[in-house]
Amino acid sequence: YYPVLTGQVALVTGASSGIGRATALGLARAGAVVAVNYGSDAKAAAEVVAEIEAVGSRALAVRADVSREDEVLAMFRSVVETFGTVHVLVSNAGLQRDAPIAEMSLADWNTVIGVNLTGQFLCAREAVREFRRRGIQPDLSVAAGKIICMSSVHEVIPWAGHANYAASKGGVSLLMKTLAQELAPERIRVNAIAPGAIRTPINRAAWDTPEAYGRLLHLLPYRRIGEPDDIAQAAVWLASDASDYVTGATLFVDGGMTLYPGFEDNG
Ligand code: NAD
Repeated sequence: YYPVLTGQVALVTGASSGIGRATALGLARAGAVVAVNYGSDAKAAAEVVAEIEAVGSRALAVRADVSREDEVLAMFRSVVETFGTVHVLVSNAGLQRDAPIAEMSLADWNTVIGVNLTGQFLCAREAVREFRRRGIQPDLSVAAGKIICMSSVHEVIPWAGHANYAASKGGVSLLMKTLAQELAPERIRVNAIAPGAIRTPINRAAWDTPEAYGRLLHLLPYRRIGEPDDIAQAAVWLASDASDYVTGATLFVDGGMTLYPGFEDNG
């Protein structure tokens, strides 16, 4: 990691585990001060804060359920109180509640849409309000604020048995592009990362036995599972001025999962 984010304040949601944790650490290694949002695991969030401090940056653990408006507002208030502002939002919090469509409860539908899609709306809205409060200068040579939405390859790959999740990520895709279009004149950049299969708790069943891992590799032309740091590296780039002309883009970080691997040996 190069110190490309020195002086920047980043807020990462769902940062107590998996991709969010790695991203919070990556941003910190690149010089950012990081607010580590968590939903319930205060101990894990405190560990991420300690790891960030150990690499020489500052961090704050901040609890909020991103699907709740009052909690998102309070989270932004406490981050701004502590660090002065927010320059980078990584909307990463997400979950799955899988079921075949006929068995899917409305509660499971609403939970997934609430966290994965409404949560991204609420956090993006507060980030934009904070970017504007800080003051947008029209002649800025670099971005006035950056929003990175954690999407998924399932923003384009349909996923049987996961209709709520795929719908939420499809929604994130057009939410991201619409915000990018709406906010570009203010030099606010909005992009997404679409991870493929990354080794985290959310998909443990897909990689934690040799049989499952073998099946997974058939979906992965690059023949390895992704690691959380693969996503963190992409997030640092999207947060940095190295990507200053990039807005409205989804960066697929998926080892080729979206390359129709079924056609690999198809004559
Ligand atoms: P994870 O379960 O380790 O991380 C998700 C985090 O979100 C957890 O820390 C969880 O506590 C938090 N969270 C859940 N509900 C929340 C809420 N209401 N408020 C605040 N935080 C909440 O799994 P992960 O793989 O690190 O997932 C991170 C993101 O990456 C998710 O958006 C997921 O959809 C996406 N993603 C993951 C993969 C993968 O293969 N792991 C692939 C594509 C997309």
